[in-house]
Amino acid sequence: MASPLKMIGSSWRWLVGENVSARQILHHGFLVSAMLIGLFSAVFNYLMELTVPAYSLALLVISLMIMVMWYRSRFHGEYRRMSWLFCTLVTFVMLPANWLFNNGANGPTLLFYLMASAYVLGVLPPDRIRRGVLISGLMLMPWLLLALEQTYPGLVAVYASPSIRSLDMGVSYTLAFGLLSVVIAGYAKRIREERNISRAYAHKLERLSRLDGLTGLYNHRTIHEHAETWINQYEKACLLICDLDNFKLINDAHGHPYGDQVLATFSAHIQDLSHGIEGKAGRYGGEEFMILLPGNLATARQFDRQLRERCDASPLMHGNIRFSAGASELRHNDSLASWVQRSDEALYHAKAHGRDQLIVDHDISAV
Ligand code: GH3
Ligand code: MG
Ligand code: MG
Repeated sequence: MASPLKMIGSSWRWLVGENVSARQILHHGFLVSAMLIGLFSAVFNYLMELTVPAYSLALLVISLMIMVMWYRSRFHGEYRRMSWLFCTLVTFVMLPANWLFNNGANGPTLLFYLMASAYVLGVLPPDRIRRGVLISGLMLMPWLLLALEQTYPGLVAVYASPSIRSLDMGVSYTLAFGLLSVVIAGYAKRIREERNISRAYAHKLERLSRLDGLTGLYNHRTIHEHAETWINQYEKACLLICDLDNFKLINDAHGHPYGDQVLATFSAHIQDLSHGIEGKAGRYGGEEFMILLPGNLATARQFDRQLRERCDASPLMHGNIRFSAGASELRHNDSLASWVQRSDEALYHAKAHGRDQLIVDHDISAV
């Protein structure tokens, strides 16, 4: 059986709503608390004879109205309308009534005005004019009520005795503290929510800053960073550079959008193959690609062969994708520049000797 604490927790989550924004949770939490406080105060005021019985009845009606607002907001997606309505009623109707019936400046209403302000400032949707009216109301209503009480003291109901006042103030303080806790918890949730959103954005931006927009492979900077890391960490690695053959002709014949599709398709083949063997693939620029492969030249040869097989197996509108490639193995004293240069020279030989082939740096003298 679930523990009572867990049951209270899950009931509260149901009351405030799950999978909704932190603002809505704050709003629903405050409504539910205000409703419970209203019901409690109606009974408490009636039993302790703090106010006239009619006010207890009014509190009961108000609590039921709050329940309707909570219901419409929670289950009918009327969060915005209900939050405006509730904020307006609290500021201009409920708290002034509480002031008049519950001992004015001597009673707890100022305390509740502060709690309402904490709620209103946190929950209001962005609407300058309405926000302005409500915030002005929250600032000015107590002044107005104080002035009213000063001018017409008879308007305000007074406590029957100092001890009743102490009791009411004590209970009201505890209730206000409860409201404040709900508001603070709402703010804390909102901060967590915003932090998660900004983290997700930062993560996305970081990912995007590492990838090439067209092909989804690593971009120039990132594949270079990986190559630097590999030079420091790997004993055996190969650098393969591929360059599409006569790509300009494909662009000229079919247009650049089609050329983009060819680049994307070729990149997808590279991506698939390099994933399988824990390689890293990047777009060096234009129609040139850089692939880091763990292992020796046999791995590079195999990768090149498989890439050609894939290109042959999936011809495009212009025919099969053809490319030239150059590869070299990492040497002990290599810098990034020297490693890239050897693969580049091999690629240059592949281009110069008929294209559509792989040349590895060892073979250059033999070509
Ligand atoms: P080679 O076989 O000697 O490599 O000839 P090539 O035509 O492939 O090489 P060249 O350097 O003459 O032309 C490369 C072309 O790649 C020119 C350029 O317009 C095109 N290109 C570069 N980046 C992109 C791109 O992002 N999209 C498209 N569609 N074309 C691109
Ligand atoms: Mg090129
Ligand atoms: Mg080319």
